[in-house]
Amino acid sequence: VLSEVQSELLSFRDSGMSLMEMSHRSKEYSKINNDAQNAVRELLNVPENYKILFIQGGGTGAFAAVAMNMMNRTGSADYAVTGTWSGKAAKEAAKYGKVSLVFPKADKPGSIPPESTWTLSPDASYLYYCDNETVDGVEFPYVPNSNGVPIVCDMSSSIMTKRVDVAKFGAIIAGAQKNIGPAGVTLIIVREDLLGNPMK
Ligand code: PMP
Repeated sequence: VLSEVQSELLSFRDSGMSLMEMSHRSKEYSKINNDAQNAVRELLNVPENYKILFIQGGGTGAFAAVAMNMMNRTGSADYAVTGTWSGKAAKEAAKYGKVSLVFPKADKPGSIPPESTWTLSPDASYLYYCDNETVDGVEFPYVPNSNGVPIVCDMSSSIMTKRVDVAKFGAIIAGAQKNIGPAGVTLIIVREDLLGNPMK
């Protein structure tokens, strides 16, 4: 891959210029964007009613984007805090609405409390969790049951390491740099009907 990138640096596919010099609206770049979306759709078997976005801001930017775009429905959201990154996501979301922790934050993260002990709010806009807590080494071996509330999952450090049923999620967020691409790209997979109700 690196050799291919190197060989295309002066002229991408006979366009006479590097990809880095090109308009993001050029047909060459549009094709790359579409091909990358199609590759994600194929690899993760993403249903048609989900948008696949490549955005900026890192995983951390997505913490705010999730709350600002998805919390408006009811004004509150449930967070399962199992470590550093879900903790940061919950703190960020609390700037925009009511955040309820579905179980008390552990002093020292290391395990996930049994689902039977979780307190879920039926009126939460979404249930948020982090599939793999990179810093703390806590990985979910299952997708939690949210009783129909849309699930938002941070898969920054687990995306494409295993098969997931995307239809179980309202949104999946993943900084690309760990598993799938260069730093600076964030992958968002989001169910279309959950969009269109952002905060002012
Ligand atoms: N979530 C998880 C699970 C992570 O491992 C990281 C990065 N270490 C982030 C979010 C934050 O991503 P970024 O550095 O792209 O803001």
